[in-house]
Amino acid sequence: MGRGSSGLGDEGPFGGGMTGDNASATVKSSHPLIDAISSGGGGFANEIQNTRDAFEREYGSAVKRMNLSLATFNEPGVLGAYGGDTLFMNEKYVKNANLTEAMQASVTSGYHPSIGNKTGAEAVAAHEIGHRLGEIAAAQAGISEKEIVARAGKKVRIKTENMAGHISGYARSNYSETIAEASSDVFCNGKKASKASKAIMAEVKSILG
Ligand SMILES: [Zn+2]
Repeated sequence: MGRGSSGLGDEGPFGGGMTGDNASATVKSSHPLIDAISSGGGGFANEIQNTRDAFEREYGSAVKRMNLSLATFNEPGVLGAYGGDTLFMNEKYVKNANLTEAMQASVTSGYHPSIGNKTGAEAVAAHEIGHRLGEIAAAQAGISEKEIVARAGKKVRIKTENMAGHISGYARSNYSETIAEASSDVFCNGKKASKASKAIMAEVKSILG
């Protein structure tokens, strides 16, 4: 599901989405990210591609087979979404230099994990890619995303229902968001990520590897 910009009411900085857990955001139009790169669309497009490449090196081909698109959304606050094998980044927001600033504000409020030294676009892409990883890992192992979080929790002796609380406010939404937020946390913060996030992504990696 998606992440949105700040100041959007109840959904907070990351509202909307495209997966089953949140169908409130719908893509109005989209085009391949590569168009933005080839037309000199700016660093953000490369940031998103580089994020995808970094995930591919870490987690393998599940990430490679994902399409990258820029999109406009019906809901104004959605930053990105994942659905139908495609990572959609909201063109409007990823071009906004204040995106990183907006993200940092949501971090301060505890709504999202720290973005470390990454940009807002990179953090959002890492979150959305986390949805894909969670979905594919669950399907591959024949278990639910909740079970992935549960298995990770056992390794760090944290109850399943308490895992999200170690990651971010938004991670509490559901187990799909728990994994997506863990993905962003580990990508942005590396060793400094929460132990819950690290355990979840290690579990995902062991299934996909
Ligand atoms: Zn999400």
